[in-house]
Amino acid sequence: MSIVADLSEELLSRKRSIEPDEARELVRLPAEELPALLSLAHEVRRHWWGDGVELESLISAKTGGCQEDCAFCAQSIHFDSPAQRHAFLPLDEVLGAARATEASGASDFCIVVAVRGPDRRMMDDVLEAIGAIRADTSLEVHCSLGLLERHQAEALRDAGVLRYNHNLEAARSFFPEIVSTHTWEERVETCRLVNDVGMGLCSGGIIGMGETWEQRIELAYQLRELGPVEIPLNFLNPRPGTPLAHRAPLQPTEALRTIAMFRLIFPDIIIRYAGGRELVMRDAQALGIVGGVNGMIVGNYLTTAGRPASEDVRMVADLGQEVVRRRAQ
Ligand code: SF4
Repeated sequence: MSIVADLSEELLSRKRSIEPDEARELVRLPAEELPALLSLAHEVRRHWWGDGVELESLISAKTGGCQEDCAFCAQSIHFDSPAQRHAFLPLDEVLGAARATEASGASDFCIVVAVRGPDRRMMDDVLEAIGAIRADTSLEVHCSLGLLERHQAEALRDAGVLRYNHNLEAARSFFPEIVSTHTWEERVETCRLVNDVGMGLCSGGIIGMGETWEQRIELAYQLRELGPVEIPLNFLNPRPGTPLAHRAPLQPTEALRTIAMFRLIFPDIIIRYAGGRELVMRDAQALGIVGGVNGMIVGNYLTTAGRPASEDVRMVADLGQEVVRRRAQ
């Protein structure tokens, strides 16, 4: 009997996730067993989380001009990327984007800014925007503002922020090859702070930056120690001018294996399709939804355009799934 069939009985009858050695075995499965792996990942998510797909939209409320040097990012001042740059958007623009998000069928809206961490003025702008969005829409508000101090995390929680996004980006052993201006440990500290103050932690990474399969597995288990309620999986979309500009995008089948592996390590939380899926997955995007994914970022990403949210809503419906709204913590 293959490992997929063995695990199927185990994972569906006992709420357990796979162990690192099992993950290693699964990512080495021959290509003909990929459909069985995806099917198991889908069954596990249906069994432990349920049906449906949660949609979230984000706004890049402050774009470009970031002091950090994350090698995948077109918003860093260290690279010569042709990315747009703007200060914190006027409140009516942020509110307009939130209303459009609600109209698209998404339930969650994330305010993202390109900074190492927010200063006082940025916090004031963000808190004002959160208050306005919560007063005017029924959206759950998330934030992604970089490294936080405790008083900032508490202020966001008190303002009603449901989840805070802070990706580990990469495994500890690979992170120094991607970022030199802050450490992996600093990122972990902010993740722990988010948990400590009682916001839901949304933390994932970017796949396809040159890491090995072993480092993808390492990232997954390092995330598991942090207890996220949601994992965004980004696939590298190589941006011109960045040090990763010339990396070839992942193969769709490699992305699908990654999704299935994460699902089997995290049976009952949101695994969210994030940046790069259109480029990397192409026509295979739908397979991710029946291979472990239960959340999507829809609309545009931070510096790249996504496809219209209506196409994703249709894809979800075509797969016999519903767009759902739920609290995952
Ligand atoms: S990923 Fe974030 S912190 Fe890193 S350079 Fe881009 S905006 Fe700055």
